[in-house]
Amino acid sequence: MDRGKTRITVAGTGAFGLTIAWSLARAGFRVSIFDPAQTNASSVAAGMLAPVFETILEADVDGHLPLLMAARDLWPALAGQLGIYLDRRGATAVGDPEFLARVSLGISQLGMWCESLARSDLDAAVPGLSPSFQEGLLTQEDWRLEPVSAMSSLRKAAKAAGVDFHRGPATGLEGGDKLVIATGAGRDLISIAPQLKVLSPIKGQILRSMGQGFEGVLRLPAGYCVGGSGALAVGATMEPGLSDLTPTSEARSRLEALARQAFPRGAADFQAQVGVRAATPDGLPMIGRTEDPHVFLAVGARRNGWLLAPLAAQIITACLTEGEVGPYGPLLDPMRFI
Ligand SMILES: Cc1cc2nc3c(=O)[nH]c(=O)nc-3n(C[C@H](O)[C@H](O)[C@H](O)COP(=O)(O)OP(=O)(O)OC[C@H]3O[C@@H](n4cnc5c(N)ncnc54)[C@H](O)[C@@H]3O)c2cc1C
Repeated sequence: MDRGKTRITVAGTGAFGLTIAWSLARAGFRVSIFDPAQTNASSVAAGMLAPVFETILEADVDGHLPLLMAARDLWPALAGQLGIYLDRRGATAVGDPEFLARVSLGISQLGMWCESLARSDLDAAVPGLSPSFQEGLLTQEDWRLEPVSAMSSLRKAAKAAGVDFHRGPATGLEGGDKLVIATGAGRDLISIAPQLKVLSPIKGQILRSMGQGFEGVLRLPAGYCVGGSGALAVGATMEPGLSDLTPTSEARSRLEALARQAFPRGAADFQAQVGVRAATPDGLPMIGRTEDPHVFLAVGARRNGWLLAPLAAQIITACLTEGEVGPYGPLLDPMRFI
């Protein structure tokens, strides 16, 4: 295949579509990317790269640790190339003794280690944390990025690599030789890729506020608080089957209560944001070839689209270059749907 003459259309400018488009352009393809929307799940996400907490706290991703760790380990090289800041200080759990025991057991069952934090450690790591938390647990395996600035870096890098951006939906190959469908929870292209039928939406609401000193990730029994660049994000709801983008007062109250529980004298004036995640029945993504040699899929990221983005780009690029899939070959089980 003459890559310089092969036109690839990517549908979707979320974390998956942008990372894939950049990677394909760097591999020498002529890439066009389409999206009718300005915001998406990727732009409202908290930005956690959290193989450990997502595995131990989310029953649906039990057993996916090797996949999630493989994706995470691709981030330092990608972030270095794109100038994306990765906060690698880890994630701290606080909560009642049962919650901490569950976290501790979960981490040790993964064969990993976590650090016990006393109140004085928490004061240093989580300024403003409620005095009701006297101990915590830290894992340095989970990292974090800023989604909005990461998207801007990805766009810039994709443009610099020659990717052509179009404001509007892809309805088919759009003049390309191959189509990569990275449309998140969108189902427009279901007639071209019937596999999209298995995806179901999960609405997620998150609150954001400026003026918070905490930097990092705090995990609590009822959710998380993520601080960075002076902003605090508090999330997130998991509302399976819903795909509307309307914030609700119930979710706001619940998330504000979570913020007050963690930071009683902290941020107020929260803005609600909503994104829709796309999930497969078993929580694994669908990334790879389809039976149509012109059509490739990168969807079903569920709660981990940022974490999985470099792996999605690696797999799709390997499929299109007909190369080896690299060290993660056995992890290509997600292609089983296809
Ligand atoms: C509240 C919340 C918090 C989250 N926190 C995290 C987190 O901390 N860490 C993490 O890893 N993940 C997180 N996620 C999950 C993550 O956001 C998603 O898994 C990820 O954004 C999915 O990326 P994507 O590119 O597949 O889809 P999206 O970001 O949804 O992008 C899909 C794009 O496709 C476009 N599109 C649809 N149809 C078409 C078409 N026909 N043609 C062209 N374009 C089309 C859409 O307009 C959209 O822009 C969170 C999600 C939510 C909602």
